[in-house]
Amino acid sequence: MKVYTCCGHDTVVKRIYCPSCGTSDIQEQEISDHGTIYSFTKIHVPPIEFAEIAPYNVVLVQLMNTTAKVTGRLMGDVSIGDTVELDRVENGAYLYKKV
Ligand SMILES: [Zn+2]
Repeated sequence: MKVYTCCGHDTVVKRIYCPSCGTSDIQEQEISDHGTIYSFTKIHVPPIEFAEIAPYNVVLVQLMNTTAKVTGRLMGDVSIGDTVELDRVENGAYLYKKV
């Protein structure tokens, strides 16, 4: 996956212009698909479109070698500090699995 860096801030969200300084010269960097669980919330009563996959976890993943974090989804039990890997991106959602 990729992170975009400007003004000392890393993000996985691609922007045309940096929201801080306005430049279009944003650094792009390929990073590892691995990260660690920074925080998570187990969803038992999901929005209707996710009803059939509940319960699942909404996870905040600290990506490796960057300050960027990404919100994703992970099935099964998880703990803070667990190592996870990006499985796939589906409809704009980052789906993680434990490694
Ligand atoms: Zn900037």
